[in-house]
Amino acid sequence: MPRTMPAIRKKRAEKGLIIEDIPIPEIEPDEVLIQVEAASICGTDLHIWSWDEWSQHRIKPPLTIGHEFAGTIVEVGAKVEHARVGDFVSAESHVTCGMCRQCRIGQRHLCPNTRILGVDREGAFASYLAIPEQVVWTNDRAKLSPEVASVQEPFGNAVFATLSNDLAGQSVAVLGCGPIGCFSVGIAKASGASVVFATDVNEFRLDLARKMGADAAFNPIELPGKDVVRALVEANGNLGIDIILEMSGAPASITAAFQAVRNGGTVVLFGIPSKKVELDVAENMIFKNLTVLAVNGRKIFDTWYKTQWLLSSGAVDVRPLITKTVRFEEINSAMELLAGGRACKVVLKPDQPAPLPVREDSLDRDPDITGRVTHP
Ligand SMILES: [Zn+2]
Ligand SMILES: [Zn+2]
Repeated sequence: MPRTMPAIRKKRAEKGLIIEDIPIPEIEPDEVLIQVEAASICGTDLHIWSWDEWSQHRIKPPLTIGHEFAGTIVEVGAKVEHARVGDFVSAESHVTCGMCRQCRIGQRHLCPNTRILGVDREGAFASYLAIPEQVVWTNDRAKLSPEVASVQEPFGNAVFATLSNDLAGQSVAVLGCGPIGCFSVGIAKASGASVVFATDVNEFRLDLARKMGADAAFNPIELPGKDVVRALVEANGNLGIDIILEMSGAPASITAAFQAVRNGGTVVLFGIPSKKVELDVAENMIFKNLTVLAVNGRKIFDTWYKTQWLLSSGAVDVRPLITKTVRFEEINSAMELLAGGRACKVVLKPDQPAPLPVREDSLDRDPDITGRVTHP
């Protein structure tokens, strides 16, 4: 009996994605097989869909893409020690080496040998996905829906960037309200910021930032003289902002961050500029005695514990940010929607596949004894 499944693939080195029936992955001894229930589309997937310069250098087709997901473990390998069949899980998308200096001193998110799901190895936009146990994160099904559980991975980026500072009683401005910026607005509110401002050039995104709790949201294009620095400072009682989270990567926004921050304040840089950015280091950094933090990724797994608490306690409700849930067949139109800035998170739901066929080679193994071979 064939063991195949539909998967969303970058088949050729060109724009677009196709759905293809491919073999269900065979797991290695240290891996688990997961039946995917929800998978959300990331900016990275959008880059791969559009086949931009970054993807042309990084992606080797054919490849199943996707790295943000939630699902149920249906098989575990012989060397898997903790994960169990039936566990409702998500995963850290960065599979790291465990042996480099960063890995060994608690900075696994900076491992130079990282292999990312759906980028460097087969991804989650499929009915099934095989991943090493080391990246499995167990969810509480009673507290998180598959859709919300699937956005924990990008939410974790926002958690790491936003909670890099004690926000209690501080004025905070989030520049750039894509998914990570909108998550950050919610996290800043939940963390006791005295006031949270948001900026973006897209009204749809500003609306979402307001829904996530922003006290005021500004569109630089609409402001007199496009002066977003003045708008922020005035809204903050003519005081510079305590902590600025730069989430857009737009050069104008990065410049504004360093101007709108108060003397002695903090700028957190998370948005990735597509080219070099010029900064007035003397005026806007040294004389202001600033703290500047450049943040990348998520702390593995420290950030995941904070993420789990923020989402399962209800401290942050991300549901307003899930614009749409779509089937695999709608992948290309979902990408168009995201590229047009008319969606925040879009979640893919695979059609529920038929029960996994029993493998020939598993028939002589007794699931009751090993506890490691089961089929739904
Ligand atoms: Zn992502
Ligand atoms: Zn490493």
